[in-house]
Amino acid sequence: MADAEIGVIGGSGFYSFLDDVTEITVDTPYGRPSDSLFLGEIAGRQVAFLPRHGRGHHLPPHRINYRANLWALRSLGVRQVLGPCAVGGLRPEYGPGTLLVPDQLVDRTKARAQTYFDGEPLPDGSVPNVVHLTFADPYCPTGRQAALSAARGRDWEPVDGGTLVVIEGPRFSTRAESRWHAAQGWSVVGMTGHPEAVLARELGLCYTSLTLVTDLDAGAETGEGVSHDEVFRVFAENVGRLREVLFDAIAGLPDNAARDCLCTGAHVGWDLGIELP
Ligand SMILES: [Zn+2]
Repeated sequence: MADAEIGVIGGSGFYSFLDDVTEITVDTPYGRPSDSLFLGEIAGRQVAFLPRHGRGHHLPPHRINYRANLWALRSLGVRQVLGPCAVGGLRPEYGPGTLLVPDQLVDRTKARAQTYFDGEPLPDGSVPNVVHLTFADPYCPTGRQAALSAARGRDWEPVDGGTLVVIEGPRFSTRAESRWHAAQGWSVVGMTGHPEAVLARELGLCYTSLTLVTDLDAGAETGEGVSHDEVFRVFAENVGRLREVLFDAIAGLPDNAARDCLCTGAHVGWDLGIELP
């Protein structure tokens, strides 16, 4: 029996109040994940929580070991992942408190390991095959619908779809960068949405992004620009209802064995050189 079926990569606000939480440490061929994993039960589902930035928020976005995080979840039995994150709004109508469930992704990161198939020779001297993932639709359609339904059920009308652009950080965008992002028609900007989604797909995991707007990005507002304190304040104000939405979304996800989405088969037949956990 698996330890968990559903994974949540987010802040400690999502699990710290659960009664029965089991903390476990997991090691992976790609190193250690951001922190321990915390196992708990929600709506009869076994859930593994992973603090993306580590407890105390000590890992900046570009230092997170995304490969270890996704691998660790899979090794526990997780096949569906929810990834809440804080973002900046790129349109005036996407102000603080907006919940947007993106359906597209733009990668503007620069220096992150973003594939398990990176051409490193294996211990036996062989070289893993080169693969090119189909990634036209980066998010799980089933998970997206579960997230949208959960938000509506809590009277928090979500934005259904949009493009998340992920920047390297840890700095926020300049006004010119932000205006350029907005001019492309992109919706929100964050620092952690990539490469979580693509690594999940490489491992055959469903991945759903839930973005909470904490500020208007520099090009969409007229003040001083984004500040760290503002982001944390708005996130703290919304963490309670975001947690409710996440828990309802968890309840609405299908059994792992019943998944019939595109996420399940992208990696089938690929030789990673290491057996998938
Ligand atoms: Zn899926």
